[in-house]
Amino acid sequence: MNSYFRPAVDAMAGYIPGEQPKPGTSIIKLNTNENPYPPSPAVTAALHNLDGEFLRRYPNPFANDFRQAISDVLGVPLNWVIAGNGSDEILTMIVRSCAETQRKVVYPTPTYVLYKTLAEIQAAEVVEIPYGENNRLPIEALIEANGAVTFVASPNSPSGHVVANDDLRQLAANLKGVLLIDEAYVDFANENALSLVSEFENVLISRTLSKGYSLAGLRLGFGIANPKLLEGLFKVKESYNIDAIACTIGAAAMRDQAYKNECAEKVKASRAKLAIDLKQLGFEVPDSQTNFLFVTPPNGNAEAIYLALKERGILVRYFKQPGIDRKLRITVGTDAQNQTLIEALIHLV
Ligand code: PMP
Repeated sequence: MNSYFRPAVDAMAGYIPGEQPKPGTSIIKLNTNENPYPPSPAVTAALHNLDGEFLRRYPNPFANDFRQAISDVLGVPLNWVIAGNGSDEILTMIVRSCAETQRKVVYPTPTYVLYKTLAEIQAAEVVEIPYGENNRLPIEALIEANGAVTFVASPNSPSGHVVANDDLRQLAANLKGVLLIDEAYVDFANENALSLVSEFENVLISRTLSKGYSLAGLRLGFGIANPKLLEGLFKVKESYNIDAIACTIGAAAMRDQAYKNECAEKVKASRAKLAIDLKQLGFEVPDSQTNFLFVTPPNGNAEAIYLALKERGILVRYFKQPGIDRKLRITVGTDAQNQTLIEALIHLV
């Protein structure tokens, strides 16, 4: 029987998100890089003040209240901002508008696996170029590959490292296609690449409210680039991609930078402590500028540790991928959660 689907869809594996156990279970969830702290009180207040009448009508198709908050807080013009249903949707929009058969989607690996899925949906050619020693960005090979879209996550997942702005500049200046700099974890980093959007016409930065703002369940992210580049994204986005509730709550969250920064500082302090504790157990723990650590257990048996932790009600992330299958990605939790993890690991390494 003929398949109903396009050959590209038949051929692809599809994206498999991290495990999401039912809320309310007592599982310590350190597998999908959520923030361990609740969203800003301004978010809860905005939720309480919602009027049902507000939901009867379609929302603003451009999420203007949310975009205005971003514009005010980051000091970028409103027409340099686009809102997405999670930053995943910003990634989807750029691939949809730029990639197709005969065009390439290029990125250094290991990195966020969704880039591959999005490229495959468009039947684009996928070019994966491994990072060098010490996470050296393979700049020449990335330029050579000549992608319609080149993705660089900075800070990267799962490695946790930041790519230097000078490297990103060199890439942007030499690429004919779009450079998407995925800053999903920027709220936990010491630097960012925002200034590159005004330096280069082909640079698009994506950010999210899922991590720093504790709003993964809301699904809200945004892209920043010059209006000429955003034009294509506005054409391909879903008609009302940001619902009325997300638009209102997202604006409140953005405007409470002090709360976001306070939570990020707590996470960074816990990250430092967790790194020390893991090192004491013999783990290799590279520096991270994110809310997770990408670690190698002393006995190298990452999968067994992942399974044993799961049995004890602690979820971390294990990737059964060649090259990274001896490592675990552990989201930084509260100090109490991290302590429970360490106590469990004492018996496992
Ligand atoms: N980029 C990276 C590198 C990520 O790890 C994630 C989280 N899975 C995202 C983007 C997407 O996050 P969201 O869609 O929740 O904004």
